[in-house]
Amino acid sequence: MSMDDSREEQCTCPPALSGAALVAAADGEADEATLAHLRACPQCAAQVRRLRSLQGRLLRRLYRLRCPSSDILVDYCQGLLDPFQRAAVAHHLDLCPHCAAEVALLERAAPIADVVGFSPRGRMSALLP
Ligand SMILES: [Zn+2]
Ligand SMILES: [Zn+2]
Repeated sequence: MSMDDSREEQCTCPPALSGAALVAAADGEADEATLAHLRACPQCAAQVRRLRSLQGRLLRRLYRLRCPSSDILVDYCQGLLDPFQRAAVAHHLDLCPHCAAEVALLERAAPIADVVGFSPRGRMSALLP
């Protein structure tokens, strides 16, 4: 009965957990009463699992959003980005020691690569271990 799918999440052991309690449980911060409820109630436990995997996906996406790709960093070093992108990367470099270190490495390597005449991508792979 696929029409009942949306009702599957309803709690079978009222009172149902609040949204805040479900989020706390997904974060591993549930109190005893919440944990006891989750042991008795597969519906709420399933909700917590769903929240947990959602949080994992969001974190991964945020991490990727925050760090520009290596290609972007190479373009940044070569001045190929438009002003908006350039400002965004510069702002990111202030906050992110990993990318700042990568740019420092790229900028150190660039003059040598220019002499050798590598393409930007060749330059990048020359830097990789
Ligand atoms: Zn429940
Ligand atoms: Zn970064």
